[in-house]
Formats: sequence, C-alpha cells, structure tokens
Amino acid sequence: MDIEKYKQLTDEVKPYSARIVAVSKTKPVEDVLRLYEAGHRIFGENKVQELTPKYEACPKDIEWHIIGHLQTNKVKYIAPFIGMIESVDSLKLLSEINKQAEKSNRVINCLLQVSISEEETKFGLSVGELYPLLESDEYAAMKSIRICGLMGMATNTVDEARIEKEFNFLKSIFDHVKQKYFANEPAFKELSMGMTSDYKIALKCGATLIRVGSLIFGERKY
Ligand SMILES: *Cc1c(COP(=O)(O)O)cnc(C)c1O
Repeated sequence: MDIEKYKQLTDEVKPYSARIVAVSKTKPVEDVLRLYEAGHRIFGENKVQELTPKYEACPKDIEWHIIGHLQTNKVKYIAPFIGMIESVDSLKLLSEINKQAEKSNRVINCLLQVSISEEETKFGLSVGELYPLLESDEYAAMKSIRICGLMGMATNTVDEARIEKEFNFLKSIFDHVKQKYFANEPAFKELSMGMTSDYKIALKCGATLIRVGSLIFGERKY
C-alpha cells in the first residue's frame, strides 16, 4: 500500500466537499491499520464474510461501509456495527435492514444504489424502481433506516465522456430525489460515485463520497 498516494489523494479531494471511502477488500488488516494510523477512518468492503473479521480486528471508531451487493440473509451479521450500507438495491433488502437495525436498537444509514451504467451485470435500482420505492407505504413505515443519498457505478470504459454523462445523470436524479422527498432532511446529502479509474470525473460531477481501493492499496490479486 502507498501512504504517499493516499496523501496526494486527500490533497486532491480537499477543494471538493467529498470524503474518501478507502476500499480495503482483499487487503489484509495490516493495510487497514496503516491507513488508520495515517488518520483515515472510513473503509469500504464488498463482502460480509470479509468485513466481519476485519471489524473484529480493527479499532472500533472506524466507519465501515458495505459497497457490494448484500444478500438479505447476511444483514444480521453487520447490523450491530455497520456505518453505512451503500448498496441498497431493493425494497426487500431495505426492509430486512430496517428489521435488523431495530433488533440492534440502531438506525442504519443507507444509500440507494442506482443503476446508471449500460452493463447488465451491475446491481442497482433502475430509475423506474427508485420512485415507487420512495413512495411505498412499506418504506414510509420504516423507522430504523435513514436514507442518506444515492450510490452508483459508471460503465467500465475509457470513454470519459460517457462516464461523465452517467455521473451527471446520477447527480440530476440525486437533486430531484432530494427536492421531491428529502427537502427537509439534511441527512440526505451523500452522492457516492467514482473509484480509482474515474474519481476525478466523479468529483467534478458532485460526488460527496468516492470509493477508492487500488490507488491506495495497490492492485488486487484474486
Ligand atoms: C472495488 C470497488 C471499488 C474500488 O475500486 P478501485 O478501482 O480499486 O478503486 C469501488 N466501488 C465498488 C462498488 C467496488 O466494488
């Protein structure tokens, strides 16, 4: 891992009102601790089975974010401690998070993941599913979740114009959702978009959270 690259990145992010989610998936606890010692507190993981042992081993003031597709049967393992679930892609999942949060006497911060890329493989709600979810009676009755904003992933492409178009599209949905459903809720303020390859574009398009892994921790070996 590269603390210098991390410091450069924090300098680069400073002019924007954005924070870095350091994506530590596949990387050892030692790497998390080194970045922690450099002052970093927000870490992202995409798998529950990898996150829980890291949570156990690391200082408890780390804010852990789940950024990958989350199965409903796994929610119970992270509900007691998770800082934010960025990858909420169905009402069913949101409902399970609400149930488990209630059991833990917590309110869990969530982002709704919106599908903005043209790749079928990427999870997320379509825009057509987003509004019915927010207007559903089931959502209205949930007391133990807090929707803090939206998350999205751009198409994996070298075509920067296309990436920018997708991020701008997500920003416009964010603004619309904010105005229509969360105008009086300051907690709805996060727009999580951008990773190592496209975070510069995301920052320009209004990201408040960028999820950066390989730039900080080095390439992942699977
Ligand atoms: C792995 C991952 C990232 C970070 O990817 P890098 O290219 O290593 O920065 C960001 N977001 C999600 C959803 C991921 O799964």
